[in-house]
Amino acid sequence: MLLERRDFLSSLTLASAATLFTGSSLLAATAPKKEKLGIALVGLGYYSTDLLAPALQLTEKCQLVGIVTGTPSKAETWKAKYNIPEKNIYNYQNFDQIANNPDIDIVYVVLPPSMHREFVVRAAKAGKHVFCEKPMAPSVADCEAMISACKSNKVKLAIGYRCQHDPNIQAYMKVAKEQKFGKVKMVNSAAGYVDNRTTHWKQNKALGGGVMGDMGVYALQGARLATGEEPISVIAQASTTRPEIYKEVEETMMFMLDFPSGARAACQTSFGINMNHLQINYEKGWVKMEPQSGYSGNKGSMSDGTIINFPIKSQQAKQMDEDCLAIMNNTDLIAPGEEGLRDIRVVEAIYKSVKSGQSVKI
Ligand code: NAD
Repeated sequence: MLLERRDFLSSLTLASAATLFTGSSLLAATAPKKEKLGIALVGLGYYSTDLLAPALQLTEKCQLVGIVTGTPSKAETWKAKYNIPEKNIYNYQNFDQIANNPDIDIVYVVLPPSMHREFVVRAAKAGKHVFCEKPMAPSVADCEAMISACKSNKVKLAIGYRCQHDPNIQAYMKVAKEQKFGKVKMVNSAAGYVDNRTTHWKQNKALGGGVMGDMGVYALQGARLATGEEPISVIAQASTTRPEIYKEVEETMMFMLDFPSGARAACQTSFGINMNHLQINYEKGWVKMEPQSGYSGNKGSMSDGTIINFPIKSQQAKQMDEDCLAIMNNTDLIAPGEEGLRDIRVVEAIYKSVKSGQSVKI
């Protein structure tokens, strides 16, 4: 005799049902609405330790409830510091069991870029919403697989583009949208810092390193957000002043972008130069930002005397709260996976251009 689905379900314990219907969809459906979503950070390196965990002490819509780490000593430190229960601590091997943990609603992937795809896909399959750090992944194919995994598991995917949540960045995005000074003619966008490490993932191709796998996306975002357009072609040149460190990846990348409206952008990014500025020249005016992608203090001015200098307590807290609200209300994210993919399309074209020495269509 065939069992009715309802009878069948009621004959299972919640835990075994959750295992059967892999992912937390069943748990999510039965759980009461939370005031704060639970976040688990994956990868407890610099950004998680110094920026995200402190920001999670300021958030109103989410809280740090779990960690995923390959280093047992870090687990002990974090457990004590942030009062994380043992049952919410995972390693890279048992991570998939997170599917059965109702405390955790969102997995935030803060690993080297080459590892983003694997952990985003595993998190999506576990039925968790996903935040993923920039750059989204080393290739367009990776990004597409990540977007598809999140779609098919009906979870949201947000990319950690904290600047897009910053009112100072939104101020110049609005100038392009409203054509306050007419059309954009020329953008100059620079983002770099001096990285003296020699064996970090940023110097390792296989882990997604090279300056385009890090600061490069800020220079690119400056140009894309300033024009509000997607580039149609690029010509790029890679260089290094420290070949003993930057053996397999570029230390510096310079690239020029053409946009459909005729606007052009000259972008520079480097692990050997401290720089962080954006200049946008329009038909009838200009905007200058410096810094353009700092954690705080992004500010600028406009040719009509307008000052851009909005206070912001924590970009990361604002980013995570806004992304959580989008999850809670099922509304659009500010920077979804598709936005991460747009950058990586350009990054792939940049590398093609470096290889060929020619301009590459995007
Ligand atoms: P990090 O090297 O300090 O931390 C990386 C973490 O990954 C470490 O905990 C390390 O143990 C772990 N890991 C696991 N497997 C690894 C492996 N095979 N090789 C190397 N590390 C491994 O790096 P980070 O600066 O914290 O960067 C992590 C991510 O966050 C990157 O995607 C980076 O671009 C991004 N990030 C974003 C911002 C931002 O402002 N949005 C700032 C810094 C970093």
